[in-house]
Amino acid sequence: MNLPAWVERHADLSSRNTLALPGRAALYADITDAAQLALLREHPMLARTRRFVLGGGSNLVLDGDFDGLVLHVANRGRRLVAEDADAWYVNAAGGESWHPFVLWTLENGWGGLENLVLIPGTVGASPVQNIGAYGLELADRFHSLTAFDMATGAAVRFERNDCRFAYRDSIFKRDGQHLEGRYVITDVTFRLPKNWLPITRYGDVAAELDAHKTKAPSPQQVAEAVIAIRQRKLPDPELLPNAGSFFQNPIVDAESARNLFALHPRMPHYPQADGRVKLAAGWLIEQAGWKGRSLGPVGMYEKQALVLVNQGGATGTDVRRAMEAVRTEVSTRFGVQLVPEPVFL
Ligand code: NAP
Repeated sequence: MNLPAWVERHADLSSRNTLALPGRAALYADITDAAQLALLREHPMLARTRRFVLGGGSNLVLDGDFDGLVLHVANRGRRLVAEDADAWYVNAAGGESWHPFVLWTLENGWGGLENLVLIPGTVGASPVQNIGAYGLELADRFHSLTAFDMATGAAVRFERNDCRFAYRDSIFKRDGQHLEGRYVITDVTFRLPKNWLPITRYGDVAAELDAHKTKAPSPQQVAEAVIAIRQRKLPDPELLPNAGSFFQNPIVDAESARNLFALHPRMPHYPQADGRVKLAAGWLIEQAGWKGRSLGPVGMYEKQALVLVNQGGATGTDVRRAMEAVRTEVSTRFGVQLVPEPVFL
């Protein structure tokens, strides 16, 4: 039994990851229908083949060739599915690009996702790491999702609590689930509140709105402010390949935080509800001397030290080398272990 014609062999992935790292997938399929997943799941030639679910490739470090099957979620569609007194419920296919989807909700007058504009990637990838920016995270607006379970062949619905959302984390990331390619998220439903309030507590957002003398901003105006900030600080992957924030912001216990402030009184810190304290990874990297510094073809971006950039011709090995150098210097200087945000394949 041959593989279906829509399964590509030796597929070049270099243009399918925003860090533009070289690598090929032994097998690659654009998934526009769950029936394709059912077929691949049962195919005898694929019984022992490793799988990886790919969205926009914006949170991925490709470490050479992948000797498995890449499932690229490419289904499309978005619609208002319900409305009640408190909210609009909007559903989008996993393969929809995130940013145009957010703009579409705003054009329709449904505020709620505006702080998350311009995040690269797809709708289907957004719950995996519970994307967040400027005081809002996906979990705040999430209603439910559908995933195809490659282990059982069933379509499974996940409500908010089932996803076990945490800081840039979810059940889909835990225990290597994303590396096993078990759940393929085919659509996501968002709950967008009718009693919308702007979230402007992040300094950059407040300053941008102030600069335009915007006192009571609309969702559209918050979106414009976030777009302006992001365009100033973050490199466009089309021009300078990158995967957004490369390290997670470390969260340390209160005692470690106190010890750190005693030594570094200017260190930015954000107390969490559970008593722990979030540190700014970008600040730690900058203080360790890595802002705008490179190792071979890989560097930490000159305007935002948290973003690792491929300055041209880098491989996954180059990225690992630079990542380890940054981690070592931050650890030596602050005793804090940085954890990378992207997935390594
Ligand atoms: P920033 O303003 O330079 O601040 C550095 C860090 O401090 C941020 O990462 C943020 O944590 C935290 N922070 C700042 N103000 C805060 C407040 N009022 N309350 C709690 N925490 C605060 O940050 P930035 O690097 O320019 O990023 C701005 C926002 O966009 C952040 O939310 C960031 O996560 C998000 N972003 C995410 C990515 C990605 O790839 N994941 C890429 C670019 C930007 P948090 O990260 O927890 O918000």
